[in-house]
Amino acid sequence: MMKQKKSVVVIGSGFGGLTTAIKLLNKGFQVTVLEKNEQIGGRASVLEKNGFKFDMGPTVITVPEIFRSLFEESGKNLDNYVELLPVYPFYRIYFDDKSKFDYGTPEDNIRQIKELEPEDLNGYRRMLKDIEPIYKKGYLELATKPFLTVFSMLKIAPLLFKLKGYLTNYQFVSRYVQNNKLRQVFSFHPLLIGGNPFSVPSIYSLIQYIEKEYGIWYPRGGTGRLVKSMGQLIEELGGEIKLNSEVVNLEITDKRVTGVMIKSGEVLHPDFVVSNADVATTYTKLIDKRWRKKNSNKRYEKAKYSMSLFLIYFGTKKKYPEMKHHTIILGPRYKGLLEDIFKKKILADDFSSYLHVPSLTDPEMAPKGHEAFYILVPVPNLDADINWKEMGAKLKTKVLNFLDEFYLEGLLENLVVDEIFTPNDFATRYQSYKGTGFSLEPTMRQSAYFRPHNRSEDITNLYISGAGTHPGAGLPGVVASGEITANLIDEDAHA
Ligand SMILES: Cc1cc2nc3c(=O)[nH]c(=O)nc-3n(C[C@H](O)[C@H](O)[C@H](O)COP(=O)(O)OP(=O)(O)OC[C@H]3O[C@@H](n4cnc5c(N)ncnc54)[C@H](O)[C@@H]3O)c2cc1C
Repeated sequence: MMKQKKSVVVIGSGFGGLTTAIKLLNKGFQVTVLEKNEQIGGRASVLEKNGFKFDMGPTVITVPEIFRSLFEESGKNLDNYVELLPVYPFYRIYFDDKSKFDYGTPEDNIRQIKELEPEDLNGYRRMLKDIEPIYKKGYLELATKPFLTVFSMLKIAPLLFKLKGYLTNYQFVSRYVQNNKLRQVFSFHPLLIGGNPFSVPSIYSLIQYIEKEYGIWYPRGGTGRLVKSMGQLIEELGGEIKLNSEVVNLEITDKRVTGVMIKSGEVLHPDFVVSNADVATTYTKLIDKRWRKKNSNKRYEKAKYSMSLFLIYFGTKKKYPEMKHHTIILGPRYKGLLEDIFKKKILADDFSSYLHVPSLTDPEMAPKGHEAFYILVPVPNLDADINWKEMGAKLKTKVLNFLDEFYLEGLLENLVVDEIFTPNDFATRYQSYKGTGFSLEPTMRQSAYFRPHNRSEDITNLYISGAGTHPGAGLPGVVASGEITANLIDEDAHA
């Protein structure tokens, strides 16, 4: 008699959910992905408007190998689905005095440090040397292992100490470079995964090492093309993806999910459930509180969260060839601004931003002779008392005026399309708790064992993949969480 395949429902189709689905299909499970929205990808959704194509979220692909190996283990070649193009410099960084640093390979960084602050050269070289073991342990070893017991955490404590994990990322960088501009250039990375460089541990300095090792890549057609490829792969492997299928309740009996209820009223009864939806929303909204000892409402009310983001997707009928694909525009304050965003939760008058111009690398993203952009401004999450219905329009005007005055000459008269996305939209479109951009902040007390576990602490056949669980936000992080989750289910199915 043929053995029946074990069934899994994956709630949510962010990169974490898609990875879990692919991995489980390869392990012989029957997989259904339920996605609330009209398209897959989660924060990596695509907005198409007036011939422009905007990736709404992630734009920087740092470790293409993780996608290559996903396809390879499925017997496919990623290159047949999407073309990856290198982007250089990794980022152009503008300081408030309009001077710039083209952040890239160590050789190019060294050349620019020589001009800016020769005394920091040795420090930079030492820093890279000291980050190498952090990267090797933290990324290559620990990011793909689950942290399910206190013992697993105790085991790595001496190592964390040795690697100076007790320093914040900014303190760590400041031990090596003295120049204020360089301190910003080499410490901003945790912001890419929702962490304040002044509070997250120095372990996250490994992000700059990842960039050095793998470079920065862009999928032709945008990040959305990569998402589409993963969706196609799921279907080729026999998985099912159901769009417009919001899960509204998880029925629990004896600490097991026995029913996954979709908004339409349909109820599925899989053997295992993976939630790739925001972890705080999963527990507090989908599961009755009597089943949640560890994942109580209090846990999620008390947790520290990443910032949110204010975005403007816009297009111009003018080209801006002098710009770079990725640009970070720093404002006059660094620590103070981050304190306003993360701690005081106020919208400051000044701001820093990230400007994305994909049509420079890939003209397909905009109509001929046009340029496609997005600008992202880190802002407080919904714990702040900000009325985004009013503030959204005001901030849009302020940010576009700023760009027109300093970086994109003639922007206002050449603007042909624009659309904003506020913290309210993160909460409604993605059901992100407190409207954050990156779920829980990756502080030491919310990392590894202390982060919500990949195998639920409360429900026996529930698993979590995505930004709010180990190892954390960012594509390498959520893809690793997808892998961990699939391995745990495979282990448990055969236990
Ligand atoms: C603007 C922005 C820019 C970023 N830039 C980068 C970058 O350049 N590089 C990088 O590596 N990372 C970047 N990140 C971080 C990265 O995008 C995220 O960490 C990652 O995409 C999150 O993936 P996830 O697996 O956690 O799922 P998510 O993307 O959060 O997706 C979760 C999915 O679950 C669905 N869902 C929620 N509730 C339900 C429900 N009840 N029923 C069914 N479905 C549900 C949602 O609709 C969504 O599709 C960026 C993030 C943002 C917001």
